[in-house]
Amino acid sequence: MSTYRSPWMDEELDIFRRSVSKFVETEMAPYDETWRQQQHIDKSLWRKAGTQGFLCTDIPAEYGGVGADFRYEAVFYEEQWRRGLTGMGQGVHSISANYILNHGTEEQKNRWLPKMTSGEMIGAIAMTEPGTGSDLQAIATRAQKEGDYYVVNGSKIFITNGYLCELLLLIVKTDPNAGGRGLSILVLETAGLDGYRVGRKLKKLGQKAQDTCELFFEDVRVHESQLLGGEEGQGFAQLMSDLPYERTTVGVQTIATMEGALAETVSYVKDRKAFGKSLFDQQNTRFKLAEIHAQTRAARVFVDRCIELVAVGELDNTTASMCKWWLPELQQTVLDQCLQLHGGYGYMDEYLICRMYADSRVARIYAGTSEIMLELIARDL
Ligand SMILES: Cc1cc2nc3c(=O)[nH]c(=O)nc-3n(C[C@H](O)[C@H](O)[C@H](O)COP(=O)(O)OP(=O)(O)OC[C@H]3O[C@@H](n4cnc5c(N)ncnc54)[C@H](O)[C@@H]3O)c2cc1C
Repeated sequence: MSTYRSPWMDEELDIFRRSVSKFVETEMAPYDETWRQQQHIDKSLWRKAGTQGFLCTDIPAEYGGVGADFRYEAVFYEEQWRRGLTGMGQGVHSISANYILNHGTEEQKNRWLPKMTSGEMIGAIAMTEPGTGSDLQAIATRAQKEGDYYVVNGSKIFITNGYLCELLLLIVKTDPNAGGRGLSILVLETAGLDGYRVGRKLKKLGQKAQDTCELFFEDVRVHESQLLGGEEGQGFAQLMSDLPYERTTVGVQTIATMEGALAETVSYVKDRKAFGKSLFDQQNTRFKLAEIHAQTRAARVFVDRCIELVAVGELDNTTASMCKWWLPELQQTVLDQCLQLHGGYGYMDEYLICRMYADSRVARIYAGTSEIMLELIARDL
């Protein structure tokens, strides 16, 4: 396949990509099956990634970060996802760190960001509840002020990194009568926290090495110094302002998966024989793969632009929503066709394409469903 180089890559990023790639091959790929069985990666992986400087690459050095930008984050996602390694909830970790960076007080940034960068604290963000997902304003988890503390009661579901998480950004209602202005974000240090309970590791269709959990809060006491930004009622606005970052993260993971799936499928059909010639020599196979090649390239060019804009903090909400809608929708078709070209082997879990197919389905659901993305895009018309 012709080589395409993302315009945002440079020599430093080439070096970074080589060391990330080695790390992924040696520290992740060999353990993926074990992680899938136990439904979470090992905590030690986070510490190792932190030691290597692969976590929070876009957090400034003054808070313990690498002091680079989103392009470095993108490289780490790409090297994992193109190999079908989806266990590490690095996206959620990075987004949580960015919320603290962009909205936290100086004291909060100094308190938490260095530990997130080193991998000592694994981040998670809990919005979704059993009763509501897309409609964030309808959450029921309540934080009531008592003296210097908030007392939290409620539950969350589908929380990525929920099992391993040590630092939880929890979306709560501080004022039940104020609609969107009644939401706030509390930052919980979960170790030994009274009243905090991690529920089941949920069994999923895909992304089986990623820990996705229910979380319960019963009279959990959180000091007021752990209210993100120090002002009540800012939660909704804080969440909205960082959405382009989160949506581009999904876009990067998705494009890497499609590129990995295409390479894997080309290699498979060149090897596999049917009716006296390789599958690749059947016109249908060639045309299908040519379409996927063109669609994937077009998507890559679009995502590359989003990456460049996120890196300089200039990606607008509508374009980010387009990225979050279009890439996962395209991915579903691409992955289905790649699986089809594998025949029965494509349905077998030991084949990469099978895992990628299952792993990719959720991209149309999490971080805002495709329907919600269309709603947001339509508002721009
Ligand atoms: C693997 C996984 C990981 C996740 N990780 C996290 C996490 O880390 N933190 C977190 O907080 N959440 C997480 N989620 C939750 C995820 O963000 C929600 O599932 C998602 O936002 C959808 O919410 P819901 O499941 O309640 O569906 P609902 O909101 O009930 O939606 C159901 C269907 O109705 C549609 N719909 C809803 N409202 C509208 C509307 N106004 N117009 C048109 N259609 C609409 C939706 O598009 C969807 O098709 C995760 C989910 C999964 C599956």
